[in-house]
Amino acid sequence: MSTQEHVRPAEADGQETEFPKTVMPGGPEVPDEKTRAEKLREIDLFVLDLDGTFYLGDRLIDGALDFVNDVWKRGKKILFFTNNSSRSPKVYMERLAGMGCPISRDQIMTSGDVTIAYLRETYPGKTVYLVGTPALEESFRQEGICLWDCGDAGPRNHAESVTRDRTEVEPRNQADAGQTDMLPASRPDIVVIGFDTTLTYEKLERACTYIREGAVFLATHLDINCPTEYGFMPDCGAICAAVTLSTGVEPKYLGKPFQETVDMVLLRTGVSRERVAFVGDRLYTDVAVGVNHGAKGFLVLSGETKLEDIKNSQVKPDEVYGSLGEMNRLLCGGTQDGRTAGNDPGVWREFRK
Ligand SMILES: [Mg+2]
Repeated sequence: MSTQEHVRPAEADGQETEFPKTVMPGGPEVPDEKTRAEKLREIDLFVLDLDGTFYLGDRLIDGALDFVNDVWKRGKKILFFTNNSSRSPKVYMERLAGMGCPISRDQIMTSGDVTIAYLRETYPGKTVYLVGTPALEESFRQEGICLWDCGDAGPRNHAESVTRDRTEVEPRNQADAGQTDMLPASRPDIVVIGFDTTLTYEKLERACTYIREGAVFLATHLDINCPTEYGFMPDCGAICAAVTLSTGVEPKYLGKPFQETVDMVLLRTGVSRERVAFVGDRLYTDVAVGVNHGAKGFLVLSGETKLEDIKNSQVKPDEVYGSLGEMNRLLCGGTQDGRTAGNDPGVWREFRK
């Protein structure tokens, strides 16, 4: 059993705040709330995950809106980032506005945005076969990505045409070899797989065929399952697993937790790496993206991860908070509505290793 007392920390931001301090009988004090509050004050940009962090389904997480408003009041920045590439940023803007949190386009980023930026930078002008929703397809088109037009040819017809093309382009001697460049491309340069809730067997077959023929294989993000109100649905990583099993080719993943995401966030916001905190409810994406790339990774326990999960994870967060509500209380003495990170001393000792 723990006992609670109250301590008055050093004056911070011109406002004295009373923090509850948990004292474990015969053990260390856990957690040190003053330190946890200071860690928050060092941050200039909070990159917030959405589901499980800011809202759960259609319900705002307690204290989440207060946190965002108080961050803005203090002149700090908020960027929402989701790995979900099935919806357009506009849909998220409308959803957040409906929850009382209106944001501008530059305050929301998805793994689809990172993929588009990566394609423009690394493969300018190359053709892309996209396995994605109409919303993602529209985003690609708007940003000038050259999408592969399959026309009426199904994968089998495509395979026949490739065989025919190859026969036709086979150089008979050295002098004819250069002529192959004159023929039109028979496959896209790149296959991109997103979280495609409109996936069909034909799309899957095309993607596999093109990858077997040498197309570069990219994926917007690696999440295997997407939480729903009924349980889970297969996400981008699960679709990629099917393609990898069929072709033997692994994709290059973008989104969280990869370097390209951090680079894009830094480029778009102008905030220095060490003053950026990625905040979310998943260790292997939301937290890992920060701790693996020189930014901070804060775990919140309002979604799928429990405090005891940290023990068995290779990814150790820089800090753990119960929710955005607890972060708000620590940051500026706001009222605490939501859950706290708990006070299990064994888990906290493990986390601090
Ligand atoms: Mg989440």
